[in-house]
Amino acid sequence: MAILSAVLQIKELHKRFGATVAVDGISLSIEKGEIFGLLGPNGAGKSTTVNMAVGALQPDSGEICIAGQGAPSKPEVRRMIGVAPQELALYDEMSGVENLHFLGSLYGLSRTTLRTRIGEVLEEVGLQDRGGDRVGGYSGGMKRRLNIAAALIHNPSLLFLDEPTAGVDPQSRNKILETTERLAKEGTTIVYTTHYMEEAERVCHRVAIVDGAKIKAIDTVANLISEHGGQDTLVVEFQDETLRLQTEKPLEELNRLAAERAFERFHLERPTLEQVFLNLTGRSLRD
Ligand code: ADP
Repeated sequence: MAILSAVLQIKELHKRFGATVAVDGISLSIEKGEIFGLLGPNGAGKSTTVNMAVGALQPDSGEICIAGQGAPSKPEVRRMIGVAPQELALYDEMSGVENLHFLGSLYGLSRTTLRTRIGEVLEEVGLQDRGGDRVGGYSGGMKRRLNIAAALIHNPSLLFLDEPTAGVDPQSRNKILETTERLAKEGTTIVYTTHYMEEAERVCHRVAIVDGAKIKAIDTVANLISEHGGQDTLVVEFQDETLRLQTEKPLEELNRLAAERAFERFHLERPTLEQVFLNLTGRSLRD
C-alpha cells in the first residue's frame, strides 16, 4: 500500500551526459506531507534527479510516478508540481504582485483566483507588506521568498525547493525554513535539496545521502546518525589542552582521565550528519 500512497515514486532512474554518469540507478518513494532532503555535494546528481522528477529532463531509463497519476511529462501531472529553482525567474522592473500575476496567468488561473492566491502566497512567505514594491529593490532573501511564492501560486501538492536558502540573510533563511515546515504540516509534500547539513537536520523528516550519482542511504536523520554516525566524541578541556576522544564508554573514559589529572570542563558531542556523510562516502561534505 505504501507504493499507492506515495506522492513521488522514482524507480531505477538513470541519466548520463556524454561520458558523465549524472544519475546511476536512483530509487526513492516520498509520502504525503513529508519533507524529504536530498543531501550531497556539488555534482552529486541532485539537480539532474530533480529535473527529471519535474519533467524538465527526459531520463535515459527508469520510472517516475507522481501521486499514482503517472509521469510528469503529462500536463495534468505537471500541474501538481511546484518548482522553486536555484536560478530566479523574476522580473526586477515589476512588483512582487505583478510577477506573481504574470506567472500565475501562465497556469491559466482566473483573475479572481489569482487575486486570492497572490495574497495567500505572499503571506505564506512573509512578504504581504512588500508585494507592491519593485522586485529590483528586494534583498536576495526576499527574492528567494518570492520565488517560493511563485512556485506555490497554483497550489501544487508536490513542491521542489532547490537550495532555497543559498546565500540568504539569516532572517530570510528562518522564514524559508518556517514556511517549509508549515506547508508540510498542511499536507504539501516537499523535496528539499541542500548541502547544508544543519538545515537537513532541522527540517527534513527523511534524508537521502547522494554522492557519485547514487543514493548511499535513506532514512530519518536520527536513524542515519545512530546507524552510520559512529561513536560519540568526549571533549575534555584541561588547563593547557583540549582532548577529543571517540568512545563508546564516555563515563569510563572520563573517570580514567579524572584519576590521572584534573580537568576544567567536559562535554559529549553526538555525531552529526556531517559524520554520517564522511562515514558513508569517505569524504567531507564541506570539501
Ligand atoms: P548536483 O545538483 O548534485 O550539484 P548535478 O545533477 O547538477 O549535481 O550534476 C551531476 C553531474 O552531471 C555533474 O558531473 C555535472 O557536471 C553533470 N551535468 C549536469 N548537467 C549536465 C549537462 N546539462 N550537461 C553535461 N553534464 C551535466
